[in-house]
Amino acid sequence: MRAPAALARWGCDPATSRGRRHPEPRAGTRSEFQRDRDRIVHCTAFRRLEYKTQVFVNHEGDLFRTRLTHSIEVAQIGRSIGRNLGLNEDLIEAIALAHDLGHTPFGHAGQDALHACMHGHGGFEHNLQSLRVVDELEQRYAAFDGLNLCFETREGILKHCRQEDARALGELGERFLLRRQPSLEAQVANLADEIAYNNHDIDDGLRSGLLRIGQLDRIELFAAHRRTVERLHPGITGRRLVHETIRRMIDDLVVDLLAESRRRVDAAAVASPDEVRAAPPLVAFSPAMRERSAQLKRFLHAGLYRHPRVDETMDRARAVVRRLFDAYAADPSRLPGEHRERVQAIGLRAIADYIAGMTDRFALREHARLTGEPPPRLSCADATD
Ligand code: MG
Repeated sequence: MRAPAALARWGCDPATSRGRRHPEPRAGTRSEFQRDRDRIVHCTAFRRLEYKTQVFVNHEGDLFRTRLTHSIEVAQIGRSIGRNLGLNEDLIEAIALAHDLGHTPFGHAGQDALHACMHGHGGFEHNLQSLRVVDELEQRYAAFDGLNLCFETREGILKHCRQEDARALGELGERFLLRRQPSLEAQVANLADEIAYNNHDIDDGLRSGLLRIGQLDRIELFAAHRRTVERLHPGITGRRLVHETIRRMIDDLVVDLLAESRRRVDAAAVASPDEVRAAPPLVAFSPAMRERSAQLKRFLHAGLYRHPRVDETMDRARAVVRRLFDAYAADPSRLPGEHRERVQAIGLRAIADYIAGMTDRFALREHARLTGEPPPRLSCADATD
């Protein structure tokens, strides 16, 4: 890794940001992207990430990733990549720390259930919800709702978007209609997310006992680095073998991404962030690494995310979300005062916002309160050391 690089022509300069929706005087001691990062770190939704599921239900064990530790890992990997590409590290960090703020309790199962509940009412999508959190739902500032982040941070948070949602988002939605790219900082945060979860899900999968190390020998990326580790450290086993292998995988992915992205940036000869937005995607793995990464993803999908034990747990989690939604929709007086008022103002969306904001354990407590039933068993891991 090189020393911190100066901002390249293709990086986002906070001094020329497209600005905030509500104009504010500039911060005296920080750049505008640092200020965004700080606003995110201090917001309520950020603290709740600590108690939200990544793959495993939050209370399963103290050593599994949560959405909070995942977001920190994404920021770390993203900053390393960004520094080497001459990008704005603060912007990457802000995007990384905010990218999962809209996640429901119980991970993707929670989102699927909420999406089904909102059928006919605009659906529910966690990425769009992350934007909603920073644009509207946080209530901290006297002059505006949300965190009033810079355009570039909001652009990076919104990774994907349906056409009908994009049309409602004005300037921010435009790129999905015009099929343009976001800044390189946003592209880096997106791939840092993929690198982080593919690798930490292997680690958590092994720790949980749902994956066995022998299964991973079918995965090229894992097997090659495992062989290297065993050659360098004969007799190595257990946690050290897993970690030594995974750290080499992350390094391999990052080094490949840097080489391919530099090649693409040079070939496209982009001279500004706006030229980046008009170019094809410039942050990418080489074709060979893309295939190795896809193989790993397919393995995790079939072997971990769709593991029968995970599936069963997630079925029960979906039922919790569905019953919470139905209970609040049938009788909004069960909601706390301000949320009850929001139901009157904006309908079922207020219930989706309230449920999406819950942590895993709060959702379970509410479920017990509203149904009078004991909490469902939500546990899929064997080992929780
Ligand atoms: Mg993520």
